[in-house]
Amino acid sequence: MLGSWIAKAAPLACRWAVVIFGLALTAPAASAAPLNAQDTQIAQRWAANNAMFVLYHEMAHLLVDQLNLPVLGREEDAADNMATHILLSQRTNEADQALVDAARGWLLTDAAGPETFQTSDFYDSHSLNLQRAYAIVCMMVGSDRNAFGRIADVYGIDPFRQDSCAGDFNLIDRSVDRVMAAYGAPDTRDGGVKVHYEVATGLMSRAAVAFKRSGVFEKVADTLDKDYRLRRSVVLRAQLCDQPNAFYDPNHDEIIFCYELMHEFLDMARQDMAYIRVNAPETSKKVNKKARHSP
Ligand SMILES: [Zn+2]
Repeated sequence: MLGSWIAKAAPLACRWAVVIFGLALTAPAASAAPLNAQDTQIAQRWAANNAMFVLYHEMAHLLVDQLNLPVLGREEDAADNMATHILLSQRTNEADQALVDAARGWLLTDAAGPETFQTSDFYDSHSLNLQRAYAIVCMMVGSDRNAFGRIADVYGIDPFRQDSCAGDFNLIDRSVDRVMAAYGAPDTRDGGVKVHYEVATGLMSRAAVAFKRSGVFEKVADTLDKDYRLRRSVVLRAQLCDQPNAFYDPNHDEIIFCYELMHEFLDMARQDMAYIRVNAPETSKKVNKKARHSP
């Protein structure tokens, strides 16, 4: 399950701020201003990147179940680690940006939540939203200090921890390699993974169109089909759920992505546009290539 992406009642509020290199790591002020065409494209890309991280997370749950993978530790943390590892392994600007955007997404989710913690936050199967953001950034800087040191600085991770993040990443990297060697031989079957989009109407129709156009579902399906030896056919299904969520359904071998979650990501991007615009990838906006890792 996605956990803390369930809609929060409280409005976005700035809970903390870190300023390094002139970038403020702050939550946005709420804004309902309409976006122009370029900003709409930027928002859709940001939302799609967050959807991609979510789907790789759910893919990890599916693999744990179907392939009976060993998991030492909490499965929700392991699923986040696997999603991060998959994207880091792609070594593309797009995958790097997806991780930057996913970390920012968890930060914004935290900012949108209640000001105080409940006991249930600490016994939940998911780590806290901010921990999930920092875990992504830690793995990034742990994998490549030169490429991601700046974003770790922006997140305020001190140099000592940045050093030890390398150990965290190496342990996960070694573990994934061992698991893949045992379970990850490419599948030779065709059609093991199918993508299905259900119809969305009303308020969610725009989110449904944006999700389908992003091609994220097909990208994740391709990864799942080519890189893993699935034991049963899988369906990736996008649908209305009455809540912003995504989950793996082990009874039907389906990964469900809710259009409401895409809608929520688009809303988050709209409210965070001033920040996202500055750090948008160069394909959306002409920026210095060296700045592509800024959050
Ligand atoms: Zn999960």
